[in-house]
Amino acid sequence: NATLQIRDLAKVYQTAAGTVNALRGINLDFQRGEMVAIVGPSGSGKSTLLNLIGVLDRPSSGEVSIEGIPVSSLNDSEQALVRNQLIGFVFQSYNLIHRSTVINNVALPGMISHRNRRQLLDRARKLLSIMGIADKSHCRPSQLSGGQQQRVAIARSLINDPPIILADEPTGNLDSSTGQEVFDLLCTLTRQLNRTVIMVTHNLELSQLVDRAVYLRDGMVEREIRN
Ligand code: ADP
Ligand code: ADP
Repeated sequence: NATLQIRDLAKVYQTAAGTVNALRGINLDFQRGEMVAIVGPSGSGKSTLLNLIGVLDRPSSGEVSIEGIPVSSLNDSEQALVRNQLIGFVFQSYNLIHRSTVINNVALPGMISHRNRRQLLDRARKLLSIMGIADKSHCRPSQLSGGQQQRVAIARSLINDPPIILADEPTGNLDSSTGQEVFDLLCTLTRQLNRTVIMVTHNLELSQLVDRAVYLRDGMVEREIRN
């Protein structure tokens, strides 16, 4: 009954220079309410793994299952629905739309699922207030600090109430105290809302504060450490 199951996952890239075995037989289970860091040297397969969990790419073999749904086998439009409904994305560079207001950025992923607009904006406002930036709702992202922009991105990742949040170096562009605040927010969400957060990070300090750290090397799980 894991929220996310990864079975025998492999990814091979064909390049002009030859074949790259980016992932080689990954098996992992992720539970509700768990915060997990994916760590490892550059080129070890972290981005590839996150892309496959996020259904942004297809594996060469093996399967990713989310809430029992074998998502790697779905067609493109079904995968788009999974990305929208089951996964929240948080990126290193926030990826906010700068022509839009903060609240519209948060609401945007909810527009696809025909939700009542007023309810959607109410929920966006509520999430911004949980993030402590309700007063920024009608600002443009460029008027906010990096830490505030990442809070907007976290609020956006939660708008459709997904069981899984994927965070790619969420603190990578932040100074260490702001990064710690963003990390603490992610921790709180994981616990209180019973979400699974999977975070790629180079920050060894943070990787010791999560529930579990998965170390990748050469496309394989080298070890797992429970904290
Ligand atoms: P990490 O995120 O740990 O740095 P990546 O998943 O980006 O690792 O890369 C794993 C390996 O796969 C590396 O050798 C990388 O060069 C290669 N790779 C990643 N993406 C692609 C791609 N789109 N095409 C070809 N090779 C890729
Ligand atoms: P990260 O900083 O997360 O390790 P990378 O710099 O490895 O990310 O990769 C950035 C993007 O480039 C990713 O989408 C990855 O799939 C792609 N990529 C990485 N290595 C290669 C490669 N050798 N050929 C083509 N694309 C690549």
